[in-house]
Amino acid sequence: MKDYGEIQDMRFTSKEIIKDTQALLRDTSLDVSIPLSKEDQNTLFDLLTYVRYSVDPELSEKYDLRPAVGIAATQVGILKKLLAIVLYDDNDDITEYALANAKIISHSQQKAYLKGGEACLSVDGLHEGYVPRAARITVEGYDLIQGKEIRIRAKGYEAIVIQHEIDHFFGTLYYDHINKENPFMEIKDAIVIE
Ligand SMILES: [Zn+2]
Repeated sequence: MKDYGEIQDMRFTSKEIIKDTQALLRDTSLDVSIPLSKEDQNTLFDLLTYVRYSVDPELSEKYDLRPAVGIAATQVGILKKLLAIVLYDDNDDITEYALANAKIISHSQQKAYLKGGEACLSVDGLHEGYVPRAARITVEGYDLIQGKEIRIRAKGYEAIVIQHEIDHFFGTLYYDHINKENPFMEIKDAIVIE
């Protein structure tokens, strides 16, 4: 894991995660005002800290963090459009976002899906099946890390993770997208991500 310097106090741990058994998870989240309030900045940073630490063996055990690549504020019961994502590529290079008001402004018609299906911190039950997503998306939002409005062009795994997190703003969960009759039905022209 990247060295993040001094270890932060953990505001969010597994105990704070709202599960899909709670109706709150299905509520709609609201835009936040830009410039971000101190409170919203703190929430974004604490979400980012959760994801960063969740993939570190020692810290995840110490703070009881279930590993994640992303988290939305909705999942800790804060109905605001805030999300954090931490992705490691094959070379261990890191892509991190701490986004406010993330919004998909365009997407490809072509679909993509993870061969092994998706998972979610808020979902304990087993929901197998393909989750069709747009293969490519363009997203806009304010990124706390870069301190400015950014535009992200994402494809592949990154595009899927961003769509999964933005879905939380609308109370949508990954398994809502799984074909009920045939969870593993072939998705036409889709890119399969191993
Ligand atoms: Zn999720």
